[in-house]
Amino acid sequence: MGGSSSPCASCKLLRRRCTKDCIFAPYFPPNEPHKFAIVHKVFGASNISKMLQELPIQQRADAVNSLVYEANARMKDPVYGCVGAISFLQNQISQLEMQLAMAQAEILCIQMQNNNNNLCEIQINNNDNNL
Ligand SMILES: [Zn+2]
Repeated sequence: MGGSSSPCASCKLLRRRCTKDCIFAPYFPPNEPHKFAIVHKVFGASNISKMLQELPIQQRADAVNSLVYEANARMKDPVYGCVGAISFLQNQISQLEMQLAMAQAEILCIQMQNNNNNLCEIQINNNDNNL
């Protein structure tokens, strides 16, 4: 039994000794082996290590989360990866913006019709007064 010195998921997969200052250990715990397996497959362990080293410690967890997300997207969609999701959502945004613009135009039309009717009523009233 290794006790507290059980290697992180990365070192376990790479079959190397997990040292106290292992850069992966805080983000790839041994109970979540799939997280490292997938980023290693897509980005490669040495690239991940380089990326993490270039970041301040307080941003590394976020970077690991986005790398895992991107790697998962790349596995699901080998052609577009998470760009596929981004362009799908961008299309949805522009469709919704068009619907919103149409709804706003409709509101404007109704308001103008109401205003015209009010004007008409005023004019009719004025005519009544004149009579
Ligand atoms: Zn390690």
